Amino acid sequence: MIKFGPAGNSAAFYNEVGQTASTTEAAKWVAAQGLTVYEYSCGQGVNITEKTAREIAAAFEKEGVTLTLHAPYFINLCQDDPLKIQNSFRYVTESLTAALYLKAERIVIHPGSPSGKTRERARELLVENLVELENVVEAFRIKSGVELPSLHFETMGKIGQYGSLEEIIEICNLSPLFFPCIDFGHLNSRMHGAITQSPDEYNKILDVLQEGLTDEKIARFHIHFSKIVYGEGGEKCHTTFEDDPENVYGPPFEPLLTALKARKLEPYIICESKGTQAKDAATMLKYYNEL
Ligand SMILES: [Zn+2]
Repeated sequence: MIKFGPAGNSAAFYNEVGQTASTTEAAKWVAAQGLTVYEYSCGQGVNITEKTAREIAAAFEKEGVTLTLHAPYFINLCQDDPLKIQNSFRYVTESLTAALYLKAERIVIHPGSPSGKTRERARELLVENLVELENVVEAFRIKSGVELPSLHFETMGKIGQYGSLEEIIEICNLSPLFFPCIDFGHLNSRMHGAITQSPDEYNKILDVLQEGLTDEKIARFHIHFSKIVYGEGGEKCHTTFEDDPENVYGPPFEPLLTALKARKLEPYIICESKGTQAKDAATMLKYYNEL
C-alpha cells in the first residue's frame, strides 16, 4: 500500500506537543495527520539506545505507522581507504541493529562521493565495496537469525555525489538486498529543474526505473520528496511547498502522484520539506486521495 509521511519531527510537532517532546510522542501526532509512515534519522550517527528504540517501535506500532530509518550521512562506499571502508560498513550494521529494535522496514543509504577520484574509479571502488557489504550484511543476517530490513540506495542531489538515476539502478542490480530510494527533488536539482508540471519528465524517469529493475524491486520502491533550491552543482537546500508554490525550483508533486497512480505503483513517500515535512506529506496524501 502507498504510504505518506515525514522525515523526522516537524516544527509544528514541537510547537503543538512541546519543545522537548520525544519521538515516542510523535507517533500519535503523525497518525493524527493521517500519515502512515515515518523516517527516523540516524544521519548524524546511530546514537539511539535499545530501550528508546523499542519504546518508539511500540508507540508507532500502536498507531499503525510504519517506520523506516535513514543511515548515517558519513557512509562513503566510493573510496579505497580500508579504515574508512570498515567504518562505512559499521555504520550500516549499526543502522541494521537500530532498525531491528525500531522494527523499521527499510534503511536509506547514500552511496558516497568520488571526492577527487574519476567517476569511473569511484564506480569500480563502489562495486568492490558493495560486494563486500553484501557479505557483511549476510553475516549479520545469519547472526541475528531474523529477516532484515531492505537497504535502499538514494539518488543524490549534488552532481559531484555518486547517485544519478542510472547509478542507483546499477547498484540495485548488484544484489537482491539492494533497493531504490528515488529522491525526485535531488534528481530535479541534478537536472537543473528539468521536472516541470508536464508529466513527461516523471514518465521518463519512471520508465527508466521500471525498465531497469525487476518487479520485486519496484514493489519495494522508496521515495524522498521535497522541493529543493539548486545551483550549477545541483542541490543547495531543501525548501517547503509554501515557499515555492510556483515551482521556481520545484519539482511539482502533482504530476508525480498522477503518474504513480496511473502506473499502480505503491511506494512509501517520505517528505523532507524543511520544517513542514508532515504538513507537506499530508498535502500530497490529500491530493493523491482525490485523484
Ligand atoms: Zn538522504
